[in-house]
Amino acid sequence: MQQEHLFKVLVIGDLGVGKTSIIKRYVHQIFSQHYRATIGVDFALKVFNWDSHTVIRLQLWDIAGQERYGNMTRVYYREAVGALIVFDVTRASTFDAVPKWKDDLDSKVTLSNGKTVPAVLLANKSDQSREGLSTQIPKLDSFCKENGFVGWFETSAKENTNIEAAIRCLVENILAHE
Ligand code: GDP
Ligand code: MG
Repeated sequence: MQQEHLFKVLVIGDLGVGKTSIIKRYVHQIFSQHYRATIGVDFALKVFNWDSHTVIRLQLWDIAGQERYGNMTRVYYREAVGALIVFDVTRASTFDAVPKWKDDLDSKVTLSNGKTVPAVLLANKSDQSREGLSTQIPKLDSFCKENGFVGWFETSAKENTNIEAAIRCLVENILAHE
């Protein structure tokens, strides 16, 4: 029997880390250098075959212009079943904010079984030099365990690196919680 799942996935993290670029790359296969801060909440839909009997409708929610943890409303997080939390490898401050984003997420949304939603950590802009984060990147495995991430990936929206893999990892974990 054919199964169809609709999954709401949040893409969160500080301003300028590449959230919109990752969504655009994944959904529309495009990348632009031009910075355009999106205003309001935006979402993109990607429909794909997971396997021969499973269709996934993935709704990627872009927080767009409200990049302050604590500022996000429960309404926005409501019914999310997974999240991508993004930082920029060229700016350490965006990595320091990751646990705050994770806490904000976990305090505002849980699955029907009471568990936190699966979250994958994206170290974005891997095409650039990782100034200031060269000591943290090798420790990301333990960071993920400590902070409850199901995994992490070095991604580049610019060069289309690892975005599919990261989303695949998230979807696997979402399906495991179904
Ligand atoms: P957002 O505020 O998190 O949505 O970030 P944007 O997607 O608007 O990206 C902010 C800036 O970073 C833009 O100028 C993008 O072109 C740039 N950017 C995003 N992802 C990458 C990447 O993987 N590599 C590089 N070099 N630049 C990126
Ligand atoms: Mg944006």
